[in-house]
Amino acid sequence: MRIVILGAGFGGLELSTRLSEEFGDDVDVVLIDKGEGFVFGFSKLDVMFGFTDAAHVLHRFEDCVKPGVRFVRAEVTAIDPVAKVVTTQAGTFEADILVVALGADLHPAMTPGLLEGGHEFYTVAGAFALRDVLDEFDGGRVLVGVTSTPFKCPPAPSETTLLVNDFLQERGLRDHSEVSLVMPLPLPIPPSPQASEAILTAFEQRGITWRPNTLVRALDPARKVAVLSDGGELPYDLFLGVPVHRAPSVVVDAGLTEDGWIPVDPLTLQTRFPGVYAVGDVTSVGTPKAGVFAEGQASVVASAIIATVHNAEPDAVYDGHGICYMEFGGQQIAKIDVTFQSGSRPVGWMEGPDVELAADKSTFGSDRIQRWFGRAWTGLDV
Ligand SMILES: Cc1cc2nc3c(=O)[nH]c(=O)nc-3n(C[C@H](O)[C@H](O)[C@H](O)COP(=O)(O)OP(=O)(O)OC[C@H]3O[C@@H](n4cnc5c(N)ncnc54)[C@H](O)[C@@H]3O)c2cc1C
Repeated sequence: MRIVILGAGFGGLELSTRLSEEFGDDVDVVLIDKGEGFVFGFSKLDVMFGFTDAAHVLHRFEDCVKPGVRFVRAEVTAIDPVAKVVTTQAGTFEADILVVALGADLHPAMTPGLLEGGHEFYTVAGAFALRDVLDEFDGGRVLVGVTSTPFKCPPAPSETTLLVNDFLQERGLRDHSEVSLVMPLPLPIPPSPQASEAILTAFEQRGITWRPNTLVRALDPARKVAVLSDGGELPYDLFLGVPVHRAPSVVVDAGLTEDGWIPVDPLTLQTRFPGVYAVGDVTSVGTPKAGVFAEGQASVVASAIIATVHNAEPDAVYDGHGICYMEFGGQQIAKIDVTFQSGSRPVGWMEGPDVELAADKSTFGSDRIQRWFGRAWTGLDV
């Protein structure tokens, strides 16, 4: 039995780890990724705001050595979901079971003016480069804005806004600065009214302007204004944007997508192609695009594959549950617990924010690096 996993992000790493733990060398698992390593989403913010450095948060795939798992560093250039054959720069791979976990591609160039007149903090390169930009910033109008939906980790723009506020305050720049957030959502975290209220209160206490139900459509770098989806404009000196997200083109070209993303059975993560699963950001499964959900989905697919290998009927179903940690600034962290089940309204609750939850967040990261890469890691050590 050969299982080919495309993408070694949150979903691919969890799935390959579960299969290795279960089967060791008895099953042939091929894990394919074009990148040099894995970086947690939250580590991008840690580097951007100077809490740690880039080298510390990159987990190299060459260190990810597991029984039964062969890592191939290559770009996937074609997928045949009927024959379950994958073409890469490093050759062709035939699968008995194929799992697509290629995430969402980010396209800052699709927002007019963003590359010329602003910055994005969602790619690894973009977030890391912002560290120097922030270092040189003397204060002024800071605008955090989302340019399209869907976008990964809906709390991330809010936490970035709160961290920018802290950053300006610590540098004595807040008095002559303005901080604003433009978001397409009606609330910062719609499934959790409690978390949303806490975030909106934090914005109000810090004098942060919050503009819901709005997108930034374009920047006009000459006039230093952001053009909004409601026709309005907002002036800025420093623009920090969430870029356009799209399914990787190789997935679209394979005919796997509908309305831009891969539709899957929300309980089993099966695509309409027999023996082909998809997990995480590349799907339209109904959960937000976040690592914890990709991981939960990968775990269900792992259970299904394990059952199949043992000639049993797969019975694991996806529960749409996830936990994430949100930075409020001042080392205050909140834990947000949300569940998205198809056919029901999403529900969520929040613990904190407080400083004790920093230890929980650190354990969240270090547990995963221990399981996936087999080594100790503490999120913020430099
Ligand atoms: C600022 C920020 C903060 C975040 N904070 C959190 C958080 O606190 N908690 C949380 O749960 N989530 C968070 N996220 C979201 C999280 O990072 C993603 O949702 C998660 O990584 C998705 O996992 P995935 O497995 O679907 O895809 P990814 O983790 O994106 O993995 C996809 C992999 O596929 C590879 N790939 C893509 N195309 C190809 C190709 N053609 N050939 C070969 N390889 C390819 C990529 O190199 C990548 O390694 C955050 C995101 C951002 C930007």
